[in-house]
Amino acid sequence: MYQSEFEIIRRYFVDSGLYFTAPGIELGIGDDAALLHIPQGKLLAISMDVLVEAVHFPVAADAGLLANRALAVNLSDLAAMAAEPFCFTLGLVLPSNNEQWLEGFSQGLLPLAKKYNCPLVGGDISRGPLSICIQVQGLCDKDKAVKRSGAVVGDKIYVSGTLGDGAIALASLGLKSHLGVSFAMEDESQSSSFHQYFKNAYYKPEPRIELATECATLLTSNIDISDGLLGDLAHIIDASDVGAQLLVHRIPYSEAALCCMSAENRLMAALHGGDDYELCCTVAPQNCEKFEKKATQLGARVTCIGEIVAGSGIRCLDESGTLVNTEAGSYLHF
Ligand code: ADP
Ligand code: MG
Repeated sequence: MYQSEFEIIRRYFVDSGLYFTAPGIELGIGDDAALLHIPQGKLLAISMDVLVEAVHFPVAADAGLLANRALAVNLSDLAAMAAEPFCFTLGLVLPSNNEQWLEGFSQGLLPLAKKYNCPLVGGDISRGPLSICIQVQGLCDKDKAVKRSGAVVGDKIYVSGTLGDGAIALASLGLKSHLGVSFAMEDESQSSSFHQYFKNAYYKPEPRIELATECATLLTSNIDISDGLLGDLAHIIDASDVGAQLLVHRIPYSEAALCCMSAENRLMAALHGGDDYELCCTVAPQNCEKFEKKATQLGARVTCIGEIVAGSGIRCLDESGTLVNTEAGSYLHF
C-alpha cells in the first residue's frame, strides 16, 4: 500500500507513541518547526549522529535494533556532557516505503524515548540509500556540564562498565572489523549465549545518563568511548593540555570477552575498537571515594584505570610497570 510522507509521519512517529508531551515541549511534530522552552539556569546540549547503511551498520540489519542503537549512541553523547535527555529529531533517508521496516524502526525507538522521557519532536524524510540521522537535545545546569577540557594533573582516570565488547561484537556478528584479520574469536566462543551477549552489546548499548548526571559535580572531564579508549582519552588530554598514564591490566572486561578473546585481542578491542559507549572520565583524588560510592549506589560499575600526568600523550604500562606498545589506530572515517 502506498503511503504518503504525511501518513508515514502520522502512523510511525506520532500514533506510535514517540511524540508525547514532556516538560518544556510547547509544540512538536506537525508544524514547520518545534518550539521548546529552555528552563532558566539550564544549557541546551545538542548532539547529532549520522548512521549510514554498510558504513555504520550492516546491510539488512533489523530495523528495531538499529533504531535502538541509533538513539542509544546519541543519548550516550548527552551522558558525556552530563546532560539530561530533553527531546530528539529524526532525519530518515529510505530506499523504499517499507511498512514493516518503519513499524520495526519506530517500535525500536520507543523504549529509550520512554525511559528517558525524551519525545520525538520533528524530523524529515527523504528517499535514497538508507541512512538515519538523530539529533538529541539535552539540558544541564549551567555549572554542571562536563567538558573534555577539565582534566588536571593528579586526577584519576575512570571508565564505566566493561570495554572491548563493541568491537568483539563485530567479530561475533561476522562483520568487518578495522582491527585486521587476526582479530578473531577463539573457538569456544561460538555458544549462542555469547553470541546474544555481543549482539546486545552492539545494538543495545546502555547510555550512562544516570551515572553522568548524578556524578556531574565530581567529574573534571568526561567523554563517551565511541572510537576506542586510546582515541577518546586522547581527546580529553589534548583538550586539557595534559598527559595520561594507563594501567592496562586494570581495564575491565566482560565475562564473555574474557572467554572469547585472547588477551592480546581483548586489549586491542578495548584500546582501539570503539562502539563501547562507556564513559571515560577524570576525578580529582579527593573525590574518588565519593564517586565510587555514588556509582555503587546507582548500580554502575566504574574502574580506575590510570592517572592524569604532566606533559602530553598516553603511556600504557602493564602489571610489572613495563611500557606496552600500543599503536594508535582508533577508527577514523577520513
Ligand atoms: P516541511 O515541508 O515544512 O519541512 P515536512 O513535511 O518535512 O515539513 O514535515 C512535516 C512535519 O512532520 C514537521 O513538523 C516535521 O518536523 C515532522 N517530521 C517530518 N519527518 C519526520 C520524521 N522522520 N520524524 C519525526 N517528525 C517528522
Ligand atoms: Mg521537511
